[in-house]
Amino acid sequence: MLDPILDVLFPQGACCICRKTGRYGSRQPWCRECLDTMLDLQQSGSNCEKCGKYLVPGTTMCSDCRSKPPRFDIARAVGPYEDPYRISTKVLKFMGKKYVALQMGQMMADKIKSEPRFGQIDMIVPVPISKNSLQVRGFNQTELLGRKISKELGVKMECGVLVRTKDTPHQTELSKEERERNLACVFQVTDAAKVEGKNILLVDDVYTTGATSKECTRALLDAGAGRVCVITWATGRGF
Ligand SMILES: [Zn+2]
Ligand SMILES: [Zn+2]
Repeated sequence: MLDPILDVLFPQGACCICRKTGRYGSRQPWCRECLDTMLDLQQSGSNCEKCGKYLVPGTTMCSDCRSKPPRFDIARAVGPYEDPYRISTKVLKFMGKKYVALQMGQMMADKIKSEPRFGQIDMIVPVPISKNSLQVRGFNQTELLGRKISKELGVKMECGVLVRTKDTPHQTELSKEERERNLACVFQVTDAAKVEGKNILLVDDVYTTGATSKECTRALLDAGAGRVCVITWATGRGF
């Protein structure tokens, strides 16, 4: 089935990451070398068993999860937030190349399929972005990723069930504590009956401090969701 927005081939003359010339498009947005770097980076450490952050080999849980266990069941990412993962995120978000979401979503779906701990998923919910970002960008990147994952897993995506009630200042420059304070009560469930008892897969692009995923999880569980798991394209490194 063709998706009118994403499944056109979008022929491109260069790798969207390193700009090496060649024939690229939505099914193959980057070159073999960039893909190999991505695959190598996936092995560049062990993952926190709870939040998935990259840790020095041999460590099983990051200090954040040890001191305050997140309420989601599990969070996983395709790779660490470093080039080429970092560049591809920017290509999608800031250069507006929506076609790369197809391959990113595909790889996120593959990650879910390879991790039995995700278990049965009843509903996919993309993290809502701020009104301001939506206005500037014209689309929500987490929704594009979620759409592909939804198709791959055969699970329905619900976009309006979780909303952002206020815009927050840019998070990038803030400390972990400031981010958490900033996000308190920003996310709300609009229809509790829809999430009641459901096993929900939350979709975001990047997991940094986890503040966003944790706040969305809180809103969903407080509204009666059965369980929340998180998938992102990239994640940070922890200790
Ligand atoms: Zn490349
Ligand atoms: Zn962790």
